[in-house]
Amino acid sequence: MDTTAIPTAAMRIDAQRLWDSLMSLARIGATPKGGVCRLALTDLDRQGRDLFTQWAKEAGCTVRVDEIGNIFARRAGMDDTLPPVLTGSHIDTQPTGGKFDGNYGVLAGLEVIRRLIDEGVQTRAPIEVVVWTNEEGSRFVPVMMGSGVFVGAFGLQDVLKQKDTEGKSVGDELKKIGYAGTEKAAHFPIKAYFEAHIEQGPILEASDTVIGVVTGALGQRWYDVVVTGMEAHAGPTPMELRKDALLAAAGLIQGINRIALDHAPHARSTVGWIDAYPNSRNVIPGTVKFSVDLRAASDDVLSAMDRELKALCDGLRNEGRVEVKLEQVVYFQPQPFHDEQVGAVRRAAGRMGYSHKDIVSGAGHDAVYLARVTPTAMIFIPCKDGISHNEIEDALPEHIEAGCNVLLQAMLEQAGIAES
Ligand SMILES: [Zn+2]
Repeated sequence: MDTTAIPTAAMRIDAQRLWDSLMSLARIGATPKGGVCRLALTDLDRQGRDLFTQWAKEAGCTVRVDEIGNIFARRAGMDDTLPPVLTGSHIDTQPTGGKFDGNYGVLAGLEVIRRLIDEGVQTRAPIEVVVWTNEEGSRFVPVMMGSGVFVGAFGLQDVLKQKDTEGKSVGDELKKIGYAGTEKAAHFPIKAYFEAHIEQGPILEASDTVIGVVTGALGQRWYDVVVTGMEAHAGPTPMELRKDALLAAAGLIQGINRIALDHAPHARSTVGWIDAYPNSRNVIPGTVKFSVDLRAASDDVLSAMDRELKALCDGLRNEGRVEVKLEQVVYFQPQPFHDEQVGAVRRAAGRMGYSHKDIVSGAGHDAVYLARVTPTAMIFIPCKDGISHNEIEDALPEHIEAGCNVLLQAMLEQAGIAES
């Protein structure tokens, strides 16, 4: 038998079991409005981790936990020396999070293993499902902590010292919930990594598409801007003599919005936070601080946007009314995913007759870090109104099912089927 052929092409996941598992996990930290609040390394996170671990063990998996609390559940392959095909996501949520963000990717992976067992299918390479620690970054920074340590983006000792607003550290909280593991928190050879996730945006729903074939993630540059003018009385100060920092900032914000429009379709520019001083009805604002978030699919475009932002600030400075300070505070490189694995997702969606389109992830995901060290692809499914990080986050059962079927088929293609 040719191990690259798919004799199990007709295999489909058990949609009801996957849905029931999602709803069971969603009861841990359930909020009155139908969402989930399960912050990283809290007792609720422990309960969620315990439930996943119990399910994985019931499915015959061996479970290991690494030093940053990432959980790996493994189903042996026919050739157990081969690097595993890995899938997973996270089960921590935002304070007003939903049932599907992250949880879907973890439980879709578990459903793949459960289905292989139902069908008695043995893969050549092992299959592993991972739960990454603290993807959301809500209680502890940085975001994508577990996958970031795994790929070496930050050091283990540095993140173990990170504290929440109550002064509790990652290291202490990991021990307290029983997930300070002994496996080294470092990447090992992996054949391929797949992550199924709700889109968290409106593109798939708007185009009536079931599967997003994610080709990569946008790069990001974040900045802090300070515009300084002069506070003065709103009555006695004539218009032509003012140094109105808020008015200057407003012009700048218009220009920043223009930057992304000029680099459509994959560029984004956002001013999401602003603070005007002294913020008083009858005082001309003297100082305005605001944030800028620029995103693009390639470093060329992102660098061009950076130059345009600097030129805007220079232009305003040269008018001589206000001072402008611009400081870059965060940089994430654009991260293309890998052709073979992206192709596996596209082929699987096509074979099963699901409508699909290529899409770029505007948000960060554990997969974006994994792509630095291992061949990676993601599968997006629509979410209602493109909303996530919200208790009303929702996804349709048929989309949940379709994304997991694509995951199953893509993983089978990469893992190979053992001859029996
Ligand atoms: Zn997520």
